[in-house]
Amino acid sequence: MPDWTPETWLVAGARPRRPGEPLNVAPTFASNFTLPGDRLYSRSHGTPTSEALEELLGGLEDGRALVFASGMAAASIVFQRLGVGATIAVPAEPYHGVAGIVAEGEAQGRWRVLRIDQADTDAWLDAVATCDLVWLETPENPLLTVADLPRICGAPRPSSTLVVVDSTFATPLAQRPLDLGADVVVHSATKFIGGHSDLVAGVLVTRDDDLVEELAERRLLHGATIGAMEAFLTIRGARTLALRVRRAQATAGELAERLDAHPRVDRVRYPGLASHPTHRIASSFMSGFGAVLSFETAGGAARADEVCRRVELVNHATSLGGVESTMERRAAIVGQERIPAGLIRLSVGCEDVEDLWSDLDAALG
Ligand code: PLP
Repeated sequence: MPDWTPETWLVAGARPRRPGEPLNVAPTFASNFTLPGDRLYSRSHGTPTSEALEELLGGLEDGRALVFASGMAAASIVFQRLGVGATIAVPAEPYHGVAGIVAEGEAQGRWRVLRIDQADTDAWLDAVATCDLVWLETPENPLLTVADLPRICGAPRPSSTLVVVDSTFATPLAQRPLDLGADVVVHSATKFIGGHSDLVAGVLVTRDDDLVEELAERRLLHGATIGAMEAFLTIRGARTLALRVRRAQATAGELAERLDAHPRVDRVRYPGLASHPTHRIASSFMSGFGAVLSFETAGGAARADEVCRRVELVNHATSLGGVESTMERRAAIVGQERIPAGLIRLSVGCEDVEDLWSDLDAALG
């Protein structure tokens, strides 16, 4: 990327800049290309649209990006590399899709799995020294625990150990795992990068040229190709990523404090709150705390369901990272043991903070 800030790169990084061409990258709806030429088929060689998206997202993290049909497609390509007998370390309860891949490989006897509390840095340091794959997800969905990336990613490790960070909640703007020593960063671009709840996409970014070629080969074999429309929409959404994240993050910080002081809220989890168990670690390397927070209402699951039904501005919906705020009682969607039954995950969008507060305060009663 030229000597620009990430904010400028997001706006200007994907422009054809050829005389007579549109300012914006157009969606190329093509599977097949006229020969002879460098591009044969879109599953193997991508399209001008997917390539422009890869350049944009790779430049943002000073690496090479590969885009995928979903965040899960990107994640599963990493797990596909593992041979039989591999040892992998994952957070105690990662995103439930990733938990499913891990559990499947374990049940088939393919891998040995260590499940580690996200905040247990010593256990992660042991894992980095001994495992084939160390998979971190930070901030973690939905408890927002932040892993000590500088120590974990910076620890000495065998050259065969791959350290991967799912950075979806932080976005490429709030943390830079590759700078800290991670091998690969994963994002569900469905969330903040796309930002408008209108697409499903994923990305892997690495600075290792051999690895990028290997992962691209796997993507080709397994067919996890992004569609033209999704690639186009992801570029379009990403251009305002910095604006959206800056605003949503500021609002999330304000709402976290107000919810924390609310008599009908028992507990708020947001890495930006001084009371959050990993606030100190997050402050040491993140340049923002993200726009997702969780809170528990007094009254448990039934009361939390009522709050989700009562909101009028916030959307009662499962995904996150859009311009519109969304919330859900997380345990109603995924049955993970550590998620308190009454925990509501709130993804803060770009609405006015006072309008959001009025809505939440009224719904809480
Ligand atoms: N990683 C995290 C942290 C997520 O929250 C999600 C989806 O919610 C994914 C990965 C999977 O992404 P996708 O839904 O784009 O496949």
